[in-house]
Amino acid sequence: MVRKLDIAVCGAGIGGLSAAILLARQGNRVTLFDQYAETGPVGSGLMLQSTGLAVLGAMGLSERVLALGSRLERLWGKSTPKDRTVLDVRFEKLRAGHFGLGVQRQMLFDTLYDAAMAENVPLETSRRIESVDRQSGQIIFETGQFVGGFDLVVDALGVRSPLTRAPKRELAYGALWTTLPWPGDGPFDKTALEQRYRAARQMAGVMASGRVDDSAPESLTYFWSIRIDQYERWRATSLDSWKADAETLWPQTRPLLDQIDSHDQMVFARYRHRTHPDPVGGPKLVHIGDAWHAASPQLGQGANMALLDAYALALALDVTNEVSLALARYRSLRKSHIGLYQMMSWLFTPVYQGDSRVMAWLRDYLAAPLTRIPPAPKLLAGMVTGAFGSPLKDLGLRD
Ligand SMILES: Cc1cc2nc3c(=O)[nH]c(=O)nc-3n(C[C@H](O)[C@H](O)[C@H](O)COP(=O)(O)OP(=O)(O)OC[C@H]3O[C@@H](n4cnc5c(N)ncnc54)[C@H](O)[C@@H]3O)c2cc1C
Repeated sequence: MVRKLDIAVCGAGIGGLSAAILLARQGNRVTLFDQYAETGPVGSGLMLQSTGLAVLGAMGLSERVLALGSRLERLWGKSTPKDRTVLDVRFEKLRAGHFGLGVQRQMLFDTLYDAAMAENVPLETSRRIESVDRQSGQIIFETGQFVGGFDLVVDALGVRSPLTRAPKRELAYGALWTTLPWPGDGPFDKTALEQRYRAARQMAGVMASGRVDDSAPESLTYFWSIRIDQYERWRATSLDSWKADAETLWPQTRPLLDQIDSHDQMVFARYRHRTHPDPVGGPKLVHIGDAWHAASPQLGQGANMALLDAYALALALDVTNEVSLALARYRSLRKSHIGLYQMMSWLFTPVYQGDSRVMAWLRDYLAAPLTRIPPAPKLLAGMVTGAFGSPLKDLGLRD
């Protein structure tokens, strides 16, 4: 009989919960650890792509997610003051009927959390992890307590994981995010993630993000990009002067801005770019999700990537419980897709978030017309939906 493994999953976010569900279903003894005292994520809505949706489908969780999410068919960006469309990515150009899904982070978290609890995975909260002994699989907590040694430790601790030494590069721009009720009477396109740009230094966005549960109202996520070094100044300035600026960029957002009464209503997110060269951190340590690779959410792939990583790890461990062989298989299943998207994110982020006027001009007057000429629309759709590099085929999944 095949020996089942004793696995610690560090971090109960999107990647960690998904890995725990899949690994527990294989019969492994899985324990989840997280620093939070109360369960639940904070922050923005996010866009699930067909990649992430395929993994959720394979986990038997897509019905609820599809019912509560909001179907998105297009990424549509205009620059001011000339109101020129400079980005128009239609997902159907990849394949008829292709779509993304705007969801509330809370809804995705609840879905994964409930599934992990249904598998009876123990979740130890208020457990802030400090380090791991890579040889013995022992986990050391901030309190000095330790537990172990596990056959395998999965690092799903996100971009600030203390279990990797890969350098993190903080990006100059982050964003302010809030969730508001979806205005039924317009003026936004519910099937689009809409953005407005002022050169590349300012971006506002509106995305339908569905419902958090069956009884909740439809929502949208509004975001406003901001230089990290301007955040404190923004907090110290009156909301009215910021709202006037935001209204100039995108007049139709005035009714949304009217619902923002305090600076605290806007959650501040910093973005970091980091790629750990090797997801295998030692004989008993493996990194998944943002702990392996983090990028600005410009291409909106992070949550989808975390789901793909979790699925690939489970797939590799399904074939063999020889940990070293399984980790090598996991690495080969995911490495090229990760490398491709880290590179594309690094290349494209400054085009939409940066201080260069030249870059913005090239985007609006050179790149935008070119993106309308075939095969560019299909290529763009492939890039934004995460389909480049055929990650699903590698995992035996279909969208
Ligand atoms: C503003 C914003 C918008 C985004 N939009 C999108 C989008 O549209 N589409 C998309 O696909 N992705 C998006 N992303 C990226 C996505 O949110 C991340 O890639 C995804 O959450 C990564 O999942 P993860 O499981 O690796 O890490 P996380 O979800 O960050 O989970 C990490 C977990 O580890 C815990 N933890 C951390 N440190 C410790 C410690 N020392 N000890 C114990 N526990 C710890 C945390 O409490 C957390 O629960 C966005 C990100 C941001 C910031």
